[in-house]
Amino acid sequence: MVDSLNDTVECAVVVGLTWTFLDGECAPAMYARLCRHLAGCQGCLDHYALEGRVKNLIATKGGGEKAPKRITWGP
Ligand SMILES: [Zn+2]
Repeated sequence: MVDSLNDTVECAVVVGLTWTFLDGECAPAMYARLCRHLAGCQGCLDHYALEGRVKNLIATKGGGEKAPKRITWGP
C-alpha cells in the first residue's frame, strides 16, 4: 500500500514523530523526509503547528510544573 522504504512517509508516521521532530531529536535523514512530507501535506503541517504551539506554551511556563507530591500523612 505505502512504500515506506522509499522517500514517502505515511501521515501516521509523521504524526507519531511530532515530538521527536520538535525536540530536534530526529535523525537528519528522517528530518529531511518529514520536511518533504510537511511541505506537501497540510493536515500534518497543521498538526505540527498545533503541537509546536503546545510545546511553546509548556516552555513559557518555565518548566516549574513539577510540583512534588509530598505525602505528609502516614503511619
Ligand atoms: Zn501527512
